[in-house]
Amino acid sequence: MDREPCGMIAGAYDPFRREKIDIYVRDGLIERIVPAAKRTDSDAGADEADSDDADSIDAGSNETAAGNSRVLDANGYVVTPGLVETHIHLDKAFLSERLERPAANLGEAIAMTAALKPGYTAEDVTARSRRALDRSFAFGVSLLRAQVEIDPVLGLLSLASALALKAEFAGRMTLQLVAFPQEGIFNQPGTARLLREAIRLGADAVGGIPYNDRDSGEHLDFVFRLAADAGLPVDLHLDFSDDPTQLAIEDVIARTREYGLEGRVCVGHLTSLGSVPPDRARRIGERMAEAGIHVFALPATDLYLNGRGDTHAVRRGIAPVGLLLDAGVNVCFGTNNLRNAFTPFGTGDPLDVALLLAQTSYMGTETDADRLLGMCTDRAAAALGVDDRRIRPGAPADFALIRAESVQDLIYDRPRDRMAIRGGRLV
Ligand SMILES: [Zn+2]
Repeated sequence: MDREPCGMIAGAYDPFRREKIDIYVRDGLIERIVPAAKRTDSDAGADEADSDDADSIDAGSNETAAGNSRVLDANGYVVTPGLVETHIHLDKAFLSERLERPAANLGEAIAMTAALKPGYTAEDVTARSRRALDRSFAFGVSLLRAQVEIDPVLGLLSLASALALKAEFAGRMTLQLVAFPQEGIFNQPGTARLLREAIRLGADAVGGIPYNDRDSGEHLDFVFRLAADAGLPVDLHLDFSDDPTQLAIEDVIARTREYGLEGRVCVGHLTSLGSVPPDRARRIGERMAEAGIHVFALPATDLYLNGRGDTHAVRRGIAPVGLLLDAGVNVCFGTNNLRNAFTPFGTGDPLDVALLLAQTSYMGTETDADRLLGMCTDRAAAALGVDDRRIRPGAPADFALIRAESVQDLIYDRPRDRMAIRGGRLV
């Protein structure tokens, strides 16, 4: 563990500039960036940093001419501004061992998980959440949005845990917390009051799940009104089926306009849209793009729980990613769940999800690989309302370094050799 500040991170490949760069760091900020090939002899540590032997990163750190900082040889690594986890459930991670059998469909997954909730304690939720966050951090995630369950059984237990973890991880990852009424709002009396309290305590976004309440429109009205009044974004679980008639996205587009929340609404799943005939789906996609609605495909869960009613020619049950991208929608992706009734697998590595989406959404070109990287970096950050995380002078020296020669290698190989830099320090 090297906590000395680096004066320069040398020779990393920047996939957004499409060249190798040297990043000069001063006082935790990026001072300047130069193409690696254009360094001059006066640029400190240049010669030593050109080694291809990245194994020498710790041992090979060199004193610069200035003598007050060091060179991190990042040749052979891709540098990104930190990966983004757009959608994850920390409070119900790692529950598989408490289940007697796998869930047969979405309804069972919700019911089986709800049955476990009375057994949650603050220590239990925090321990499982921290385990998930430690994984995310190790994979290079620096910005993460968690869906925090709010209901009359748990009350604000999950939120209290998540707020404490948000503070605990502040130097390593930025956490955003969504107040998420998993069990519904109006079919669970008391939830509306708890959601208002969650916002008062510091939730960063208002969540919703219209398909799990007594009336979808009533649910959406409450969520949008609450968000607009609090000045917060909306982040919904939406249209999670392969039934083209179970479709609330048009209601969401209308409310996004009505409440003036253009650009501040995200929807996860949106798999029903994949069963809608393409002409109509495309028109919906175009209207989503106009309203600035962001989409989080959650393929690990979507592929696992959808298509369960099909005996053959089984539908994939994921959002129509290509169609939405072509319509101009900001599509990203997320892990959603780790080892529970909804998704009995998953590592928490955004690049695992990127590869899964590449394989299931026909994204096999070099251009697609660039797009997939954007979907877990800058495009994902924009969806979370964090607009400028580019590597640029004046910005904090926070990056992920991932051992790969190209973006395709990064997505297809998902190298485990990664480093996190925060404020110029290798953490
Ligand atoms: Zn979710």
